[in-house]
Amino acid sequence: MLNYYLFSGLLIFTNFVAFTGNKVTDFGKYTKELKKYIDDAERILLICHINPDGDAAGAMLALRRWIMAYGKNAEMISPNALQKFLIWMRDADKIVDFHHNIESGTRLINEAELIIMVDFNSPSRLGKAEELVLASGAKKVMIDHHPEPGDFVDFIISDTRRSSTSELVYFIVNEMNGGEFDDPDFIEAVYVGIITDTGNFEHGLYSGDTMRTVGHLLDQGVDKEKILNHIFSNFSVDRMRMKGFALHSRMVVHSDLHTAYIWLTKEDLEIFNHVKGDTEGFANMLLTINGIVLSVLFVERTGFVKMSLRSKGSFNANSLSRKCFNGGGHRNAAGGEMKGTIKDVLDHFERVLPSFKSELDEAAAGMAR
Ligand code: 5GP
Ligand code: MN
Repeated sequence: MLNYYLFSGLLIFTNFVAFTGNKVTDFGKYTKELKKYIDDAERILLICHINPDGDAAGAMLALRRWIMAYGKNAEMISPNALQKFLIWMRDADKIVDFHHNIESGTRLINEAELIIMVDFNSPSRLGKAEELVLASGAKKVMIDHHPEPGDFVDFIISDTRRSSTSELVYFIVNEMNGGEFDDPDFIEAVYVGIITDTGNFEHGLYSGDTMRTVGHLLDQGVDKEKILNHIFSNFSVDRMRMKGFALHSRMVVHSDLHTAYIWLTKEDLEIFNHVKGDTEGFANMLLTINGIVLSVLFVERTGFVKMSLRSKGSFNANSLSRKCFNGGGHRNAAGGEMKGTIKDVLDHFERVLPSFKSELDEAAAGMAR
């Protein structure tokens, strides 16, 4: 049965929405519901978004840690392979890379009684697993912190105020556990998710709750040096040189529009022996320029261009990405992709950008206060 709930002016058609954006007062209600889904299923599958970051992997591994401690089994799928900087995480080797293991991945999806999706709000983020997951007869749950969760599951736990899905999982698990779940690998996975989505507390949506959680994780002995080293100090020499090249030769700044961007061609990537993850953080870097409230990184792939958007203050990168790049994300961090060459996409961006001038001016004025 399809119900709809009205929360803070946002109408969501789904079977149940735990909350969206407002202060949460009743964790018990939705964690009880989630626990029931877990209790009622034997074959549980966790799945994260394509190109998993530390939050997607962290949230999935953390939740699985508790499900296993609770006495149930849970399999894990990622639509494609985990990057090098995440494979050290406990049980990361148990995550089935769907892209390279279509047969076993298909079997897991088809046999699942419950599929819990973490850190995404739209089925398109499932890559090649999308159709299978949507067609599966399993009960489906979403746990996420992106705005505007899509209506393709039975039960949604969405909190857009959380720094990360991992932070949300931390609260949910402790509630389901009836007290602190002090498993070291759970704690580590949550920490990875939080520092990933906040760039080690440089940006993103961290709150007092986030810092209290982080305080707990540190009290419980999380090895922050080790994690920081794996996540943020793990780059190649080539990547360092590509960063210098990008800033020197591929950066465009439109001060009047408070916008800066970097573009990299396929050939650029080849010259610097690019591996996945090498351009992580490039978009954020541009926001440190005085007066800039929107930054974009354009990376050319075969036949399409992938973009990462970051913004400051009131400027909504999510809606720009939805409107112009078939993308989405959060207000201040979004992504998308567009067919065509890098030139086609940059021409398109240059054409549409001035139509956002008033929002860009407003955000810049807000930041200058
Ligand atoms: P990133 O730029 O780090 O890849 O992504 C920033 C944010 O935008 C993340 O929250 C991510 O989930 C979202 N995002 C990135 N690419 C896409 C995309 O192609 N489509 C949608 N809907 N969201 C995206
Ligand atoms: Mn996230």
